[in-house]
Amino acid sequence: MSQAQVDVSEVHWLMDMFQTVDVGLVVLNCDYRIQVWNGFMENHSGLTPRQVRDRYLFDLFSEIDEDWLRRKCDPVILLKNRAFTIWEQRPYIFKFRNYRPITGSAEYMYQNSTIFPLSDARGKVTHLCFIIYDVTDVAVSRIELESMNGRLKQLTKTDFLTQLFNRGHWEENLMREFKRLKRYPHKSTLLMCDIDHFKRINDTYGHAAGDVVIQSIADAVRKNLRTTDIAGRYGGEEYAILLVDTPIEQAAILAERLRQSVESLTINYNDKALKVTLSLGLAEFNADMSEHRQWIEASDKGLYMSKANGRNQVTSYQPE
Ligand code: GH3
Ligand code: MG
Ligand code: MG
Repeated sequence: MSQAQVDVSEVHWLMDMFQTVDVGLVVLNCDYRIQVWNGFMENHSGLTPRQVRDRYLFDLFSEIDEDWLRRKCDPVILLKNRAFTIWEQRPYIFKFRNYRPITGSAEYMYQNSTIFPLSDARGKVTHLCFIIYDVTDVAVSRIELESMNGRLKQLTKTDFLTQLFNRGHWEENLMREFKRLKRYPHKSTLLMCDIDHFKRINDTYGHAAGDVVIQSIADAVRKNLRTTDIAGRYGGEEYAILLVDTPIEQAAILAERLRQSVESLTINYNDKALKVTLSLGLAEFNADMSEHRQWIEASDKGLYMSKANGRNQVTSYQPE
């Protein structure tokens, strides 16, 4: 082969590679008119190089945010820097449908890109070259992992039966509020509730009926809460509610409202109408408490007094 023939074959190979490589290659002039468009871009856009040649990029792809992309490209032209775009910032530059079977959950192709300057013989930047990478696989698995982690985190915080906070997570919240109260004195109150004679429900109607009652009372708790209140399932049929920034007198009103709404509630279970009542105990934080457990014990004392005095009532515990 002569040197000229070798040169021609090399150009052929380069053209083949350019056409078949699994990344998008696009060259624009400095007026953002498309000059080069490889096979990847043709396959995913459905537009041939002839159809896009000399077209203004932002006319042809109206989904591209012109201001944003120009901000990316200005330093490439002026300073000869490279620029990058990543899918976490913007999912894609070119909105291509995703046809990959494995990552079928993504509607569009996630893309990263590199943008670099092309200069003429005198070193002046005359064109911009875009390399477009399909990163749908990576993006989808990252997004799925994150949402799974979020769900997992939620699961470790919530009580399965009632969807209230579980005891561990609720107590973490209490500890946080306890520390805050020590630093910035304000008034917060703890409310403990326990279903009266709950064993009878289990014994008479069965454990499954008991579960439905526990859920229904949790719903009643939720309905009576304000957005700042933090409610948890403290034990079997016990609920604990932290009333942030609420003095005990105001908390007593809320507790009484909850008591009444449970008293008037009828829970339907297998054609049976179940009725239960709630005993409640309240204690306000006081600065003598050195540990959050003492606050729980104080409201437990209130609850115990409600039980001892005949149940179905609210007692505010006041330390001597
Ligand atoms: P008191 O008025 O004194 O509170 O009477 P009580 O019957 O409610 O007494 P106690 O609090 O000792 O009984 C709680 C019962 O709740 C005991 C336990 O078997 C039952 N229990 C605990 N967790 C669950 C649960 O998740 N589901 C059901 N169905 N029952 C539970
Ligand atoms: Mg109990
Ligand atoms: Mg009970």
